[in-house]
Amino acid sequence: MSETLHTTSAVMNTYNRFPITIVKGKGSYVWSDNGAQYLDYTSGIATCNLGHVPEYVQVKVKNQLDLLWHCSNLFEIPAQQELAQLLVDNSCFEKAFFCNSGAEANEAAIKIAKKYAKDHGNGKRVEIVTFSHSFHGRTGSTMAATAQTKIHEGFTPLTPGFRYLTLNDSNALKEIDNGKTAAVLLELVQGEGGVNPVDISWIKQLETICKQHDILLMVDEIQTGIGRTGSLFSYEQYGIEPDVMTLAKGLGSGIAIGALVVKEPVAESFQPGTHGSTFGGNPIAMTAGIATIETLLEEEFLSDVGRKSEWLITSLKKLQESYSSIEEIRGLGLLIGVQMTDATGNWIAKFREKGILVLSAGENVLRILPPLTTTKEELEQFIAAFQELLIENDSQTSI
Ligand SMILES: *Cc1c(COP(=O)(O)O)cnc(C)c1O
Repeated sequence: MSETLHTTSAVMNTYNRFPITIVKGKGSYVWSDNGAQYLDYTSGIATCNLGHVPEYVQVKVKNQLDLLWHCSNLFEIPAQQELAQLLVDNSCFEKAFFCNSGAEANEAAIKIAKKYAKDHGNGKRVEIVTFSHSFHGRTGSTMAATAQTKIHEGFTPLTPGFRYLTLNDSNALKEIDNGKTAAVLLELVQGEGGVNPVDISWIKQLETICKQHDILLMVDEIQTGIGRTGSLFSYEQYGIEPDVMTLAKGLGSGIAIGALVVKEPVAESFQPGTHGSTFGGNPIAMTAGIATIETLLEEEFLSDVGRKSEWLITSLKKLQESYSSIEEIRGLGLLIGVQMTDATGNWIAKFREKGILVLSAGENVLRILPPLTTTKEELEQFIAAFQELLIENDSQTSI
């Protein structure tokens, strides 16, 4: 049926979609058009971090829907100030700019990095360094920032000004400053690229080099932020203070939103006329963002995520000890990668037959993204299903 849907649909064929149609979601579960229930451990790719249709956010957004949807950034928007304040009060940053997506947040980061270098007498610093297996978005500049040739194919000439180095590589550190580098942009745990965490000692050295040369350290926390890795923002766990952070995915609990969050001196480089967005910072998205952050700041919320993460990683490592199909467990918080010995397509389909949705990331990596609100029982359900699949797989391969 989905085959027919693809070939007859007026929607462009830009995604390999799973053969189910989700029509409803609540908490950790979604339901398909034929009534089947699934445990959603994709969370809309780390977007529905509070589960589907979280009530606190829902009520606030519904109220806002009755008041005002849009009024353009030519007017004061108090909810923007409120969300910006929440973000800066709970981070090392001082100012925020709002947009509508991850790519748009990274575009803003790329722009402000170039402007900052010029504003600070570093006009020759025009390059941005990114790293192997990164993912920063699909627009012109963010695609060029993404150091994966498969994503560039067919789209040359790429936006110039990006230089790619190897993540976690000590030689890369020597090449950060070539006199032309304005900024470094990286994910602290690469999401799409295979769930690859950055080494703590490596990023600390990287931070020192950046500070020495006034190169901006920019963290793409679009997937790692908003509690996903167990702290509000992932950088907190690395003992670093970046100059720039980008957010999107989880920030609106599923309502489209993006944010560029920066240190004060960086913020100076955007003034009226230098950057903007029609929909960015609209009252609906801001309300969703405020309610989302308020939920994450509730006592015990993030420490709970830590406990769930520990249990999940320990359980997965036990499975790894018993079953040869699992090669490695990687990740932080509830952004978990399970490196398998073979392609993930079959595993994802088998999970789906058991009523569980999971994703892949890069080669042979299953990406497990439970809602941060998932329960112990749901985590147990997931591990039990995984074990059954591993047993089935072993009995098949031994025939
Ligand atoms: C999803 C993602 C993006 C792109 O976000 P969009 O909202 O799809 O534009 C950029 N960087 C990272 C790390 C992401 O996970």
